[in-house]
Amino acid sequence: MATEEFKKEIEQRYLENPNICPFCGSTDITADHPDFNDDAAWRDVHCNKCNQTWTEEFKLTGITI
Ligand SMILES: [Zn+2]
Repeated sequence: MATEEFKKEIEQRYLENPNICPFCGSTDITADHPDFNDDAAWRDVHCNKCNQTWTEEFKLTGITI
């Protein structure tokens, strides 16, 4: 089971570069289609190299009119 500190470190690493796996650094990652509610969305991302899965969280930040 991952510690909170480890999870924060992984999250920080991913936010700095969301194009690579935060666990192993591979660019071979695949994102699922997102699920939405009123002001947020989520999608699962899978690393095809180390087999880790994580969930990206999105927040509504504005609208265009
Ligand atoms: Zn990986």
